[in-house]
Amino acid sequence: MNFKITLLPGDGIGPEVVAEAVRVLDAIASKHGHSFKFTERLMGGCSIDKFGSSLTDETLADCKSADAVLLGAVGGPKWDDPSAKDRPERGLLALRKGLGVFANLRPVKAHSALMEWSPLKPEKLKGVDIMVVRELTGGLYFGWPKGRDVKDGRERAVDTLEYYDYEVKRVMELAFKLAKGRKKKVASVDKANVLESSRLWRQIAAQTGKENPGIELEHVLVDTASMKLITSPASFDVVVTENMFGDILTDEASVLAGSMGMLPSASLGESGAGLFEPVHGSAPDIAGRGIANPIGAILSSAMMLRHSFKLEAEAASIEKAVDDVITSGARTADIGGKLTTRQMTDEIIKRM
Ligand code: NAD
Repeated sequence: MNFKITLLPGDGIGPEVVAEAVRVLDAIASKHGHSFKFTERLMGGCSIDKFGSSLTDETLADCKSADAVLLGAVGGPKWDDPSAKDRPERGLLALRKGLGVFANLRPVKAHSALMEWSPLKPEKLKGVDIMVVRELTGGLYFGWPKGRDVKDGRERAVDTLEYYDYEVKRVMELAFKLAKGRKKKVASVDKANVLESSRLWRQIAAQTGKENPGIELEHVLVDTASMKLITSPASFDVVVTENMFGDILTDEASVLAGSMGMLPSASLGESGAGLFEPVHGSAPDIAGRGIANPIGAILSSAMMLRHSFKLEAEAASIEKAVDDVITSGARTADIGGKLTTRQMTDEIIKRM
């Protein structure tokens, strides 16, 4: 099969890990007889430097016309000035909005060979296999009005938490669909005791639950969810939540796995190109040294094969190779080893 993939390596370690994910995809292509055509574009800080914009119209158009987009990471101290007129994160939000990817999927698994790297006790981590589904294009980060002004002689700041029923429904349906192929449990996280938007969220979760009788639905308040992620993470299967709660809970969940460098993500819409990226940032502290863990980016490419190209066997072969490599004791510096980014990828490709 033929697929067009736009690469947005970005800043810091982004280009280092995306290059390794491309080597893995090339290996899959030659083993299984597929053809992946890659087009590379600038995005983030590097795009601000070259074009004065974190995401140009041309780059967005390229992404929209691709079958999938693979992103490294954006940002770094050079572009951190809060008063700058463009910032790398703006490009990221514009890309998500432009691609219409309304759901961010973040799987978190605790590998038994890496439990010592998690701050939690091994007995708490046993059996942890969570899929967090975060609503990505609505809520507090996009609601209007938003801004600063002076009212009654007082400086004021406003953000708006707004959701339409269809925005909740589509992400809820995706969460239930994912649960069908897993342990058949959905935890819908909200703050329905306080927020009107959460009461709409809960109403639609309940309605979707009724339409899917084979799936166990639980409503969890976000404060309780954040506690349970630490006290009993193995009790979760699929977790679905609104944009800001998801932003916070996914970072909390990510530490369960031991290293940020291990975790992939997929952002999906109704149709069109999906966006795949490791969970970690641009890691300026280790950029340019060739020691970043490439596994988050490599597992993101596996998610691309599964969700955008429907190549389940190929996706599973990458995931199994990563699992085998970790079990064998191969380690980059973030998980206590000495392998370089490239050597870690070599080990994975060898086992595919
Ligand atoms: P970070 O994820 O870049 O780094 C946090 C820590 O984890 C660092 O010590 C880093 O060395 C380590 N780390 C991260 N990825 C690793 C990998 N693959 N292998 C080994 N170690 C790894 O988060 P940060 O330091 O808070 O942010 C740095 C920059 O990245 C900031 O400018 C931030 O805005 C940006 N950022 C971007 C994204 C994104 O592009 N989606 C996400 C988060 C942060």
